[in-house]
Amino acid sequence: MLAPLTRPDLPTKLTAAILRGIKGECPRCSKGRLFGKFLKPVSHCSACHQDWSLHQADDFPPYISIFLTGHLIAPVLIAIGMSKALSMGAMIAIAMTLAAVVMLALLQPAKGATIALQWWLGMHGFKPGGRNEAHAPPKGVPGSPWG
Ligand SMILES: [Zn+2]
Repeated sequence: MLAPLTRPDLPTKLTAAILRGIKGECPRCSKGRLFGKFLKPVSHCSACHQDWSLHQADDFPPYISIFLTGHLIAPVLIAIGMSKALSMGAMIAIAMTLAAVVMLALLQPAKGATIALQWWLGMHGFKPGGRNEAHAPPKGVPGSPWG
């Protein structure tokens, strides 16, 4: 029995696609960039030409960012709150700044992961099962059952 054909640049697992999205790489090929601006994905991958304008991440990336920010900075906020040396104003300034910085730092990776998840699952405009192209040989290969 022959092993299934795979292209080495395409992810074979959901976690690989999501990690590529977190890093801001194209979830499909990892060669191109996923974002043209801070939170604006490119319309098409420069390497594999995957259409990324089909995503509908909407409010899910901010939800993920805020959720993670709360859990990550909670221990710091508790430690600051137990300090007797800081004034209330200083504690509020530290907490607000820390929360804003951590939330903004997580926002783009959360959006990349969301787009990768939608692509993997074939949600919204992405072709259902489109990621399975990774397991088919390229079209035009002689003897290929896919044409
Ligand atoms: Zn690509």
